[in-house]
Amino acid sequence: MAVLSQAMTSAQTQSTSTLVLGAGYAGLTCAALLAHEGHEVTLLESHDTLGGCASFYRVGECTFDVGATTVSGVVPTQPAGRVFAHLGIAPDFIKQDPGMLVRMPEFDVTRHANVDAWTAEAERRFPGGRQGAFWSELYRLEQRVWSLVQGLTHFPPANAADLLRLVRPSLLANAPLSLGLLRPMDVLMEKHGVHRNAAFGRFINEQLLISTQNTSGSAPYLTGAMGLTYPSETYYPVGGMYRPALQLMRHATARGARIKFRRRVTAITRQADRWLVSCDNGETYLAERVVSSIPIWNMARLTDEQPRAYFERLSSRFDSAWCAITLYLTLQGVPRLPSQYVQLHLDGDIPYVHSRSLFLTVSHPDDRQKTPQGVTTVTVSTHAQAENWKGLSIDEYTRRRELVRDAMVEVIQRRMHEFDGMELSRVDVGTPITWQNYTHRHDGFVGGIPHDVRRPLFMLPPNQTPFDGLYMIGDSAFPGQGMPAVMLSAWNTVARIFDA
Ligand SMILES: Cc1cc2nc3c(=O)[nH]c(=O)nc-3n(C[C@H](O)[C@H](O)[C@H](O)COP(=O)(O)OP(=O)(O)OC[C@H]3O[C@@H](n4cnc5c(N)ncnc54)[C@H](O)[C@@H]3O)c2cc1C
Repeated sequence: MAVLSQAMTSAQTQSTSTLVLGAGYAGLTCAALLAHEGHEVTLLESHDTLGGCASFYRVGECTFDVGATTVSGVVPTQPAGRVFAHLGIAPDFIKQDPGMLVRMPEFDVTRHANVDAWTAEAERRFPGGRQGAFWSELYRLEQRVWSLVQGLTHFPPANAADLLRLVRPSLLANAPLSLGLLRPMDVLMEKHGVHRNAAFGRFINEQLLISTQNTSGSAPYLTGAMGLTYPSETYYPVGGMYRPALQLMRHATARGARIKFRRRVTAITRQADRWLVSCDNGETYLAERVVSSIPIWNMARLTDEQPRAYFERLSSRFDSAWCAITLYLTLQGVPRLPSQYVQLHLDGDIPYVHSRSLFLTVSHPDDRQKTPQGVTTVTVSTHAQAENWKGLSIDEYTRRRELVRDAMVEVIQRRMHEFDGMELSRVDVGTPITWQNYTHRHDGFVGGIPHDVRRPLFMLPPNQTPFDGLYMIGDSAFPGQGMPAVMLSAWNTVARIFDA
């Protein structure tokens, strides 16, 4: 029987040098970088389109971002900027200044891009303590981390050779920075005396939650610094968040990469010195190496023997992550807002929502790729827990979905006075189950592994697994979630592949 199934498999088996799994930002960056160097690469994606958590859908003439909406890390010294410059890709971005409008129950906070203007706003809105010193330390840390990560392609170390690479004077001089991975943001807030202002505490927690997936008592101050300063360099991608990913895909295919949609990977096994990857359509692939952006929790179910034990161990160490609830609105009208990004702090509870804010992305008035003239789309996202959505009857699932949708719409209509008088002509909602169905991510876990001082960043699943030719990229591997981070995971992995 085994011989028969092997014979049936081999009739359709295709060989490739490198197989990349997943057409989100991680997988497409990896495919583009490999193809750019003339490397043979095939990418398999289960969905019928690209983008993963940064994908899109269309209804009539309107395009909706499904999840990710804000671009950051695109300055040339930052990971996404470096990839685009290296590949000669120039996405169409509109810099946001202010980077974000934060609407708190008491007042609006304008996150000016300019550091001095922002510091003045923070001092005005959140009196008490040394706001100036606090923010200047955060910006200093952020600058140092970006310049440090550029040279750290083989981190976390996977073997003795990687460890040796770390013994460089420039890196050793920055070793004290790692303390910031072990201590929470609360430490810096207390140091600068800004922790006593309760409104500031709420402001910081919601800003940290959307960037590090954690709050000030647990989020490391080093990655917290990067999250809190990102509104100074925030960009709106014209046409949608998937557009730069499409450019990566086109770059890859123009250089010979084969990108195959509607191929859901069902098994990844070792066969002699190759990896055998099976898909739900019966195709099989033999590859010298596999670079997977499929999250660790799913990898535990796709692999066998030692790799399975490895991914099961990782899954039990990183056993929780956030889910998302998303809302997609069409407005008949064009609201006037200082930024396309609004963090709306809640003034009451919303059932099944586990943060204290909603994040709204409003299509740019001049973005004709997203909407016709006079129409606006809004993507709204917030945090949810998997437990509330598992094992429900259809009736109960529908009830919860409608409850959360109506409560979110109510808050938005009441608090976003800029939308007054504009008809809501369409409302769609995405639950953790929707996310699980579209991306296949285990339990609908999105947004990566929350940054936590109890599980420092260098403990995240490394890009190089202990198994020859099997690499992990994407937001469940180092360095974590967000478009620039997953692009960095791909950059570092490609560097490792060419070094091997
Ligand atoms: C609501 C929301 C808002 C966010 N906002 C932002 C933001 O504003 N800015 C930002 O930078 N980041 C944001 N993020 C995070 C960011 O979207 C992700 O960290 C990043 O896009 C993950 O990219 P990835 O390639 O690692 O994974 P994914 O995007 O999940 O891509 C993985 C791909 O693998 C495919 N796949 C899964 N299983 C299989 C299989 N068995 N076989 C074949 N293919 C498979 C999936 O279909 C998917 O296309 C947000 C995330 C969410 C959910």
